[in-house]
Amino acid sequence: MTTGLAWCGLQPDGDFRGTTLIEQTEITTPGQSRVTLRAQRPGKTRIRLKLGDCTRHALQSKCYADVMLSVPYFFFLDLRPEFIHDLARIGLARLSNPDGSPLTVQQENTTASAQAAVLRSALHVAERNLIGVNFRLLYHSAEAAVGAGNFGTVSIGGFTPPEVERSEYGVVIVDAAKRFKPDKPMAVFAGEFATSSRFRESRAYRAIFDPLMDAEKAVDAGDVVPSGPVASDRQFHIRAAIRAFGRFLGSVLAHEIAHALFPFGAHERGSLMAPGGLTFEEKTGVTDFDARRRIFVERTPIGFGPFYRECLPSLFPTGEIVATDWARRPH
Ligand SMILES: [Zn+2]
Repeated sequence: MTTGLAWCGLQPDGDFRGTTLIEQTEITTPGQSRVTLRAQRPGKTRIRLKLGDCTRHALQSKCYADVMLSVPYFFFLDLRPEFIHDLARIGLARLSNPDGSPLTVQQENTTASAQAAVLRSALHVAERNLIGVNFRLLYHSAEAAVGAGNFGTVSIGGFTPPEVERSEYGVVIVDAAKRFKPDKPMAVFAGEFATSSRFRESRAYRAIFDPLMDAEKAVDAGDVVPSGPVASDRQFHIRAAIRAFGRFLGSVLAHEIAHALFPFGAHERGSLMAPGGLTFEEKTGVTDFDARRRIFVERTPIGFGPFYRECLPSLFPTGEIVATDWARRPH
């Protein structure tokens, strides 16, 4: 007789049931099967397995319960066409030449390097905030990996649309009736960085960005986007701008991802999850800048408070979950 494992339920922390599960059962050797489970909802997930035969009749009524998995929450970082405009607004990209001539390949390459450096810095900050949390950031849709509807999409670029209240730099749309639905639309409004009146109160912000916002002095072909040590005041300046903008994006990204992971809208004052009002220094960790004197003071940007530091790794642990030795505990 051929035996197989048939799934009989998927229940992440008891919050919803009957979620999509693609199952593939493969008979490896006579009497043995391997079951592949795909497209589970993200988070700590309890899977009930029932031992059955190939016609799905339960064998000896055995049901193995409490197989715990931590399913990663995938986020697709969807760089909107507006993002390049956001970079241009702060002098980190060029959209056109003053004389109207098309951009050269070299100019486009410089812009691409600046964009890549900004995103590296952003991801570094987001990932450092979310250490111990089982999530993945992708620059392509996660649909092929986890199936439609099983991942979040973060649009990056542009300004806060008028219908978004309160939220200044980012938003995540949570359907109150389906809080644990993974495909929450999210946005990081990178354009706000160039116009934020609160940021303009920062001396470091103005020292870094005011000169670059002058079209004549924006990053251009011939500029080197440094990835390591800098060789000139100009490179020092460009690196500071990339770090500051990247850290801002990473902080906003981490804030919105935290809302998606814990979808109850809670804020935590005095932390990265403050409901707004954080300064440039808090969001980026950058507190001083002077290109000529090669001063660039950066500290760790503000992080999560005690609530989120504890709650997120507990809901989405990266470590292996061993709830029970399920194979020995047939129900
Ligand atoms: Zn918030």
